Amino acid sequence: MSHLKALKCRECGKEYPKEALHVCELCFGPLEVIYEYDQIKRVLTRDVIEKRPPNMWRYRELLPIEGDPSVGAQVGFTPLIKADNLAKELGVKELYIKNDAVNFPTLSFKDRVVSVAISRAREMGFDIIACASTGNLANSVAANAAACGMESFVFIPYDLEHTKILGTQIYGANVVGIKGTYDEVNRLCSEVAGKYGWAFVNINIRPYYAEGSKTFGYEIAEQLGWRVPKHIVVPMAGGSLITKIWKAFKEFHNLGLVKTLDTKVYGAQAAGCSPIVNAVKEGTELIRPVRPNTIAKSLAIGNPADGYYSVKTITGSGGWAENVTDEEIVSAMRLLAETEGVFAETAGGVTLGAAKKLIEQGRIPRDESIVVCVTGNGLKTQEALYGKLGEIDVINSRLAEFDDLVKANGKAYAVKA
Ligand SMILES: *Cc1c(COP(=O)(O)O)cnc(C)c1O
Ligand SMILES: [Zn+2]
Repeated sequence: MSHLKALKCRECGKEYPKEALHVCELCFGPLEVIYEYDQIKRVLTRDVIEKRPPNMWRYRELLPIEGDPSVGAQVGFTPLIKADNLAKELGVKELYIKNDAVNFPTLSFKDRVVSVAISRAREMGFDIIACASTGNLANSVAANAAACGMESFVFIPYDLEHTKILGTQIYGANVVGIKGTYDEVNRLCSEVAGKYGWAFVNINIRPYYAEGSKTFGYEIAEQLGWRVPKHIVVPMAGGSLITKIWKAFKEFHNLGLVKTLDTKVYGAQAAGCSPIVNAVKEGTELIRPVRPNTIAKSLAIGNPADGYYSVKTITGSGGWAENVTDEEIVSAMRLLAETEGVFAETAGGVTLGAAKKLIEQGRIPRDESIVVCVTGNGLKTQEALYGKLGEIDVINSRLAEFDDLVKANGKAYAVKA
């Protein structure tokens, strides 16, 4: 049974039927999904959730589809790692990495939003799935559309990482590279959606799509033993994920699934594209669009759709925001890999780099629980590391050459006689 109630304008509160709508016709505010929470409260207990299979659909009452998911049954329930080595390095007491670098099937958190969006699009009768993407959404739309036998159109800035382009083409998607920034891609896609009537997961069916991100937050709370962390650091592109993690914590609190809600939410962006961080630091809710220039291409949205709501989430929770240079991104990617064995993409470097700064600034205290959100896999953004890790040692397959190498590296190892 579905508990999906309606769509509601975030600004004026006008309700709309649960159809393919995304803006309010009265005030142009964005629409958001609302649920029958009284019904949900009666059926969704910790016990019920814990008995279900380990994937994001264990919270299905809080997701906006009416039947069973048509794709992505295995998405989610990624590891929450107690990162003790990294904690020691950063001088903090209790640190966790939520690791969506290993989300199924395309190794980023976008599989969460896409499985919801495609399932809902099919319920609403769409037969072509599309998106405007900075890379990970492209991978996920292409893969999940293929998995349920739908045609897909994926629009991206033409100069994305090669791995992200290949990782979209492989699924047989129609891939269109646009000579322009993501914001220009997005504008074109709004026109295509209007003319061709396709389901653009992050445009005309965005209210349903965005709800999938909540599962990232639900899982953190459940994996912490049904409590929320004191501090959470989240990467921001369009600014949807950060607002939905907050919504997830609030819903769990209102449903009685977690006792206290005292989380401070922190946003992270690259210095080469930080319109939301700038607004937080300047004490305004007004987003000044920027032209992106950063290696963190998955976060390179200069005019973020949910920028305003991200600022409100961050400041409303008592959190803060920080940005990092490309150099700091690479060094944070290395730090995470060397301490915890997790290879995150550039966005992960942004988030950890920002967390490190916030800790050093004293904004995040060292003795309280902290979650750092890793949202994508490093194998997809290898270009950012080309030439940054030095050359490997190459020798002939002779023991003497290996002995020389060990000597040259200046380290002594015990050997058998
Ligand atoms: C899309 C994306 C984000 C941020 O998503 P928004 O909801 O648009 O803020 C974060 N990390 C990665 C790796 C992404 O692909
Ligand atoms: Zn409105």
